[in-house]
Amino acid sequence: MPELLTESERNLEDTATQFAREQLLPLAGLADQRATVIEASKAAGLFAMTQPKSHGGTEAHALELTIVRDALAALNPPYMDAVFGPGPGVLANCGEPLASKYLEGVLRGTKRGAFGFTEPDSHPTIGTLEGDRLTINGRKSYVTGGGSADFVNTLVRIDGHGPAMVVVDIDTPGLSVLERFSSLDGSKHAAFEYANVTVDADHIIGKPGEGMPRAMRQIGDTRLLIAAQCVGLMRWCIDHVTQHLAGTDRSGVKRGDKEGVRLRYSDMRIEAYAARSMLYRTARIIDSGENAVNESIACKVFATETVGRVVDTAIQLVGGNALVAGHPLEELYRRVRSWRLAEGASDVIRLNLARGKLELDKGRI
Ligand SMILES: Cc1cc2nc3c(=O)[nH]c(=O)nc-3n(C[C@H](O)[C@H](O)[C@H](O)COP(=O)(O)OP(=O)(O)OC[C@H]3O[C@@H](n4cnc5c(N)ncnc54)[C@H](O)[C@@H]3O)c2cc1C
Repeated sequence: MPELLTESERNLEDTATQFAREQLLPLAGLADQRATVIEASKAAGLFAMTQPKSHGGTEAHALELTIVRDALAALNPPYMDAVFGPGPGVLANCGEPLASKYLEGVLRGTKRGAFGFTEPDSHPTIGTLEGDRLTINGRKSYVTGGGSADFVNTLVRIDGHGPAMVVVDIDTPGLSVLERFSSLDGSKHAAFEYANVTVDADHIIGKPGEGMPRAMRQIGDTRLLIAAQCVGLMRWCIDHVTQHLAGTDRSGVKRGDKEGVRLRYSDMRIEAYAARSMLYRTARIIDSGENAVNESIACKVFATETVGRVVDTAIQLVGGNALVAGHPLEELYRRVRSWRLAEGASDVIRLNLARGKLELDKGRI
């Protein structure tokens, strides 16, 4: 629970809050400030938290990352995505030659990888391994940052071996961008076609057949990241509405004195309290080394659905001004919507949670 932090964890929370207040909030509305944020984040000791110790990072625990993400998002500052350095993702412990050719560049920020997992049912991504060459055919339909990446970590089902994550350079013959598109929050994606794309077998990360657990580890980490941002943003929304309710409406009545408004306001607080409790409990379970796949699913589904309701209620209570283009609630409404789909659609991962208990006897209440 956020109340049970150690002194050093409370200090970390203070550092993140101060960083958001002093370094990020003043940048709102300014042209691209990512380089400034990265330098400031390095100086504050936040940047390296997501990077492995073997490459000079501090490799923070799940609870520490959660504390920082929650604290940053609670002020809803710009450039939250530039605070942490690039992590290894599916390239973690990849070994050579991928470590020198790709991982080091990713961690230094000189190379960008994208994640190719989702595919159209009609065009699954299939690989054929012959000697030391792997040939890939199929499509990936929703690759965030794919249009500007140097390579795509691609989930490929290899005949006779099973799923593998494979590093495919963007300029490999046969790999083409079918479409570039933006989604509701303005983020950029690409769809790819793999037509007889051939790579060396040493581009397979780990062993053929081990792709799914590797991909799921990255997806699990990202689910907790999303949940932590949702929780912080719920806190921001509630603070925003609290201030709004302290004012008077046009008939001179204090907005927060209306019982109907108080009921809606309490619902926001009740749900945010539950989501925040769940988040910190899940982070602690992860740090204990126990399997937390089911808890991360529960946390992601609850936090993403709750933040949607909280933002929606905040807009309703603030009124039409909240929908004026450029209002932070209007922007949040668009931003939080994608999280109920990205890293697993809510209902699809609900089914995984049910399977976790009914077939595998895993998961806590
Ligand atoms: C902003 C954003 C960024 C993304 N980035 C990436 C990325 O970088 N890399 C990547 O690989 N993918 C990415 N995705 C894709 C994302 O992972 C998928 O959109 C998500 O997994 C859902 O898959 P789908 O879109 O194919 O929908 P579908 O799987 O077709 O599901 C659509 C809906 O159908 C229903 N449904 C489907 N199956 C079932 C079932 N068995 N039972 C009950 N209901 C069901 C649910 O209501 C579900 O929401 C991104 C998506 C978004 C929105």
